[in-house]
Amino acid sequence: MPVFLHDTMSRETRPLLLRPDSRVFGMYCCGPTVYGPAHIGNFRTFILQDVLRRALETDGLPVKHVRNITDVDDKTIKGSIAAGLPLTEFTRGWTNKFHHDCAALGLLRPHVEPSAVAHIPQQVEMIRSLVDRGHAYVSAGSVYFKVCTCPDYGKLSRIDGSQLRSQSTNSAGEANDADEYDRESIRDFALWKAWSPEDGANRWASPWGEGRPGWHIECSAMSLAHLGVTFDLHGGGVDLCFPHHENEIAQSECATGVKGFAGHWFHSAHLMVEGDKMSKSKGNLYTLDQLVEKGFTPMEVRYALIAGHYRTPLNFTFEGLENARSAIGKLERFADRLLQAAGFTRTDFVPPKVQEPTAAWGRFAPAWEALCQDLNVPGCLGQIFSVAGSKDEVTPAQARQDVCGLARILWTLGLTLFQERKAEEAPPAVAELGARRWAAKQAKDFATADRLRQELAALGWTMVDRKDGYDLKKG
Ligand code: AMP
Ligand code: ZN
Repeated sequence: MPVFLHDTMSRETRPLLLRPDSRVFGMYCCGPTVYGPAHIGNFRTFILQDVLRRALETDGLPVKHVRNITDVDDKTIKGSIAAGLPLTEFTRGWTNKFHHDCAALGLLRPHVEPSAVAHIPQQVEMIRSLVDRGHAYVSAGSVYFKVCTCPDYGKLSRIDGSQLRSQSTNSAGEANDADEYDRESIRDFALWKAWSPEDGANRWASPWGEGRPGWHIECSAMSLAHLGVTFDLHGGGVDLCFPHHENEIAQSECATGVKGFAGHWFHSAHLMVEGDKMSKSKGNLYTLDQLVEKGFTPMEVRYALIAGHYRTPLNFTFEGLENARSAIGKLERFADRLLQAAGFTRTDFVPPKVQEPTAAWGRFAPAWEALCQDLNVPGCLGQIFSVAGSKDEVTPAQARQDVCGLARILWTLGLTLFQERKAEEAPPAVAELGARRWAAKQAKDFATADRLRQELAALGWTMVDRKDGYDLKKG
């Protein structure tokens, strides 16, 4: 069954399929601006893109996932100067931190992760093509895109280009009209910015003098370099729809002369905090480290971020994280029961390759079907829990199918069970009671085992038995 997804451009929900003449599904996602740690709002978007990619791979599509690193813009330059570091050194540190958080949150590495600084010649080349074709003009050493030369400008966000009052050229979405007198029209946006003293040592040569690229051109140049003139899907948070994606379309289609830059537009709604978008500029953010410090596992954070539908803003709350914790606990207990019924232990079960067309879904086919309907993660989770809560007896053969189905759907959601939680390590007295109870149970001394279980409960701990061991859980 193909994955169906809402497309911002057509406002339709359409199947994601390989184009007849193509062997891979090209997916471009706007990546992080690396001037500080990404916050969990950013990660909501990156994780949803990861779930989409995983769903496509589960469906058997070969995906080429490109996600850039924005390592040259106002904020990275300002940050590197304030830190007294060369730009590349400053951004390398934050890129490493980003990779570390991505790995903890179970994100697959994109196949290509291009950096804007490493693609200056490609950006210059695209700007040159726009100037040659009459879509851009040079003014005071900067180059601007001339919006009035692009008659279908605004087609993604359905704004009327001719009514557009202004362009904010800053990637934080802040009004940035410092260069307003150099532009022929306030609607035009910068492709190349002439060097100014605030840029410090960060300047590159171009036919128009030294300077640096504008923000939007990097994604046009890097998607062209790695996915070609047109590709299958473009993603980002909903804030990027205008002006960033609108400008990418205008630049790319005018530079190449080919319409249909991206075949499908995937925008995810924001993570909110008390009615406001979580953002660095508002300072209302949480990082993964802060939540791990509070005792949550990265998987609980991932679960909380995908639990709401991607087209609906999600309010960040600690109650949401607690719910994620209890949902993962339920899934773990269910997975253990299922493994036992199938005659496996946690360690000897080898998950099937997800793309194998014959791989079983068992009773999880409805969960997969829900996910295929516009990436309905809440519906998918609902279906998983309806199987988990079912009292139906299953044969060992059925349980083996279910185990495969569960492993496949959890892989698709990127959820790894049984993650260690540092903060919940049992204190020595509890660990000792646990070990004694396990020994009593092995010796079939059930009376002692029961007594020890009660002692553990009195201390606020539960012992969860598996075939090959046990876990101690708080509560
Ligand atoms: P940035 O690092 O600011 O360039 O943003 C990286 C990605 O995170 C972009 O796709 C943004 O649209 C997205 N993003 C930023 N803030 C949020 C938020 N509060 N919720 C969801 N996505 C966000
Ligand atoms: Zn972009």
